[in-house]
Amino acid sequence: MRFLKSVENQTFLAIILGILAGHYFPEALFRISFFGDVFLRLLKMIIAPLILASVYSSVSGLGSISRVKNLGIKTLCYYFLTTSLAVLTGLFLVNLLKPGYTPEGVFSHPQIQVKSLTFQDLVLGLIPENPVKSVAEGEVLPIIFFALAFGLATLALPLSRQKLLFDFFEALNDALITLIRWIIHLTPLGVFAIVSSIVAEKGLSPLLQLSSYVLTVIAGLSFHAILVLGGLLFFLGRLNPWKYFLEVREALLVAFSTASSSATLPISLEIAEEKAGVPKKIAGFVLPLGATINMDGTALYEAVASMFIANVYGISLGLGEQVLIFLTATLASIGAAGIPSAGLVTMTLVLQTVGLPLEGIGLILAVDRFLDMMRTAVNVWGDLIGAKIISRFT
Ligand code: ASP
Repeated sequence: MRFLKSVENQTFLAIILGILAGHYFPEALFRISFFGDVFLRLLKMIIAPLILASVYSSVSGLGSISRVKNLGIKTLCYYFLTTSLAVLTGLFLVNLLKPGYTPEGVFSHPQIQVKSLTFQDLVLGLIPENPVKSVAEGEVLPIIFFALAFGLATLALPLSRQKLLFDFFEALNDALITLIRWIIHLTPLGVFAIVSSIVAEKGLSPLLQLSSYVLTVIAGLSFHAILVLGGLLFFLGRLNPWKYFLEVREALLVAFSTASSSATLPISLEIAEEKAGVPKKIAGFVLPLGATINMDGTALYEAVASMFIANVYGISLGLGEQVLIFLTATLASIGAAGIPSAGLVTMTLVLQTVGLPLEGIGLILAVDRFLDMMRTAVNVWGDLIGAKIISRFT
């Protein structure tokens, strides 16, 4: 029974029970999804003020513009390195396993409407039209952009002025973290409700129908999470990846259940600071930024999914097109918001650039939620490992 004392173990059990309950008693569960919605709403309630407070406190707490620049460059290098490795892993596996390749060509699929995403959208999406509106509407990247700019401007003020602003935001941050600690107690119930209603609604059978595709994505994600990211943590962070996994597993379980890096952010921040020993100044900068722009799992998935769509349509892609997939999948993962199915939307950028049919997305819709859960856990794992490694070099 000692096993059940920790929230982490309770959450793990809640996921297993949620899958079983959703599969065996789908009709009995229609009311329970309400608890999942409450849990998600509580997490979402915190995201916007937390990002503002944590990014701002971390930037202004670094004490000088050159230190912010230093941390920013290291963080971006880590994001770029790991995202590229993720896409390469995806491309390698998809070429090896060739999921979806059928000599007979296309099979039937639902038609869907998709809006395409351009590079200009990505850049303009960074800058808030109005920071108050961005906070009110929870637009993560614009809030980060504003907090960063505001933090940098604060560092240019005389020290007495800086202190006033810093103390205020630091206190705001601490109060929000306390609130998160309270909300974490609800995780097992919230997670059970979310997972069981998803399984009840979607069923597990599409997973079998698209098994070669699903298995390729899972193999890629596992390889990246265990060998690539685990290896980086071991060699660069000088830490045992298994030990670190145990420390941060609550955040990964929540990421898996909610399929949202943003909704998981409050928990990742609390856990990184309290359990994994990442300094506040580092976690407060690396994690919020990572939750929206560092998505290794999404990048890998976009590469595999595009190649799968090409295979199903009988379109063979050469090296040039695969380089394009590499570039656009990286960009599309940066542009994806930390919410469920965001990767599916930004994948239009990849499909369009490479000249693949957008309707191909309809083929993979049925299993997207499940793969979204897996890739989101990898996205958050990448951020948490990044925070630890970067803290060693800063
Ligand atoms: N759901 C993912 C996340 O929040 C994004 C995606 O759809 O790939 O990290």
